[in-house]
Amino acid sequence: MIEKTRSWLLGSKDNPQQYIQHAVQLIVSVAFLYAAAINYVTGASGYLNISIQLAMSVGTLGVWYRSRWHNDYQRMAVTFMVMITTITLPINWFLNGGSYGPTFFLNICVFMYITVAFRNNPPYRYFGQFFSVFVPIPLVTIEYCFPELISPYTDNETRLIDLASTSVVTSIFMLLMMENQTKKFLLRQSKVEQLSEQLRQLSEQDALTGLLNRRSFVNSFVEWKETKEYFTIAAVDIDFFKQVNDQWGHQYGDEVLIKASTLLAEIAKENNVLAFRTGGEEFMLMMPYSLNEAYQHIQILHDRFAEMKLLNGPVTFSSGLAEVKQDESQDQFLKRVDRLLYQAKNQGRNRTVVE
Ligand code: GH3
Ligand code: MG
Ligand code: MG
Repeated sequence: MIEKTRSWLLGSKDNPQQYIQHAVQLIVSVAFLYAAAINYVTGASGYLNISIQLAMSVGTLGVWYRSRWHNDYQRMAVTFMVMITTITLPINWFLNGGSYGPTFFLNICVFMYITVAFRNNPPYRYFGQFFSVFVPIPLVTIEYCFPELISPYTDNETRLIDLASTSVVTSIFMLLMMENQTKKFLLRQSKVEQLSEQLRQLSEQDALTGLLNRRSFVNSFVEWKETKEYFTIAAVDIDFFKQVNDQWGHQYGDEVLIKASTLLAEIAKENNVLAFRTGGEEFMLMMPYSLNEAYQHIQILHDRFAEMKLLNGPVTFSSGLAEVKQDESQDQFLKRVDRLLYQAKNQGRNRTVVE
């Protein structure tokens, strides 16, 4: 319920820039209304002051309304900035005891607000910051030359309460602004992390088939060797693939590769196996199984290839299958399994040779 009201008033939290903007606009509007009410009840200032405060409250609410409900965020952000620097602050100065009042505190809030809200909009930010830094100079000068323009506090007690409460509000406001900055930073950081994870996955994926690529094979080999007691790898090569390309075209060849890869990925997913495309029509299956178990899986794969629905009939593959030895390097293993694959080709293809 609270969450709903908050997002109705301020918009989505995923857009911290607008969220904080709307929050500040509403706070300022309510603050003016509050000040007008207090002045009316206590009789601390005349009707002119109360009318000005009410007008500021309504004006600020109007800015919020346009920004929140009429998709006019950018323009209203600038309008609001101009309003608080050129109207709100000076009015506050003249109505609240000038340099004896809390306007200096409020000016610090304004400076912080401009810095945060116009983070991504440097020209407006510089303008606003410049204005906010130097606006006390003309105000102090006017107060010095025309002290009668300043409405003084009726008594010192009111002034002290005003200063103390404004100091508290300033601190809370600063805290909100810093929270907002942190939130923005965290949001950006999680986006960067997401992107870098996507990039990492892409860098390990083969573009045509979506299987893991050769680079990923090299890494996984090292990882499995460190963590697994034993594992088995099949080097798979499609038979007479050049003929497929020559006879039916390269594009058809690509379709065969994609279909075959889908099959490999399915088998891999069902059996905790990793499937890689390490070359044109060459694949590796990394299996956490003994040689015997792995051989059974490869036989199933031969059957599934034979059942594969392809426009111009199924294709076959040959493979070499071997368990990775503890003291063997990646290169040594690849040479060994390649030799087995070569034997499978020589023995007539569409078979698996095991060592
Ligand atoms: P073998 O049974 O001895 O393996 O014969 P083969 O024709 O499959 O062997 P070879 O290695 O001579 O040919 C592989 C062919 O794969 C050559 C190349 O044109 C084709 N090829 C490699 N990458 C791709 C690819 O991404 N798409 C397509 N369509 N063809 C590819
Ligand atoms: Mg080949
Ligand atoms: Mg081949």
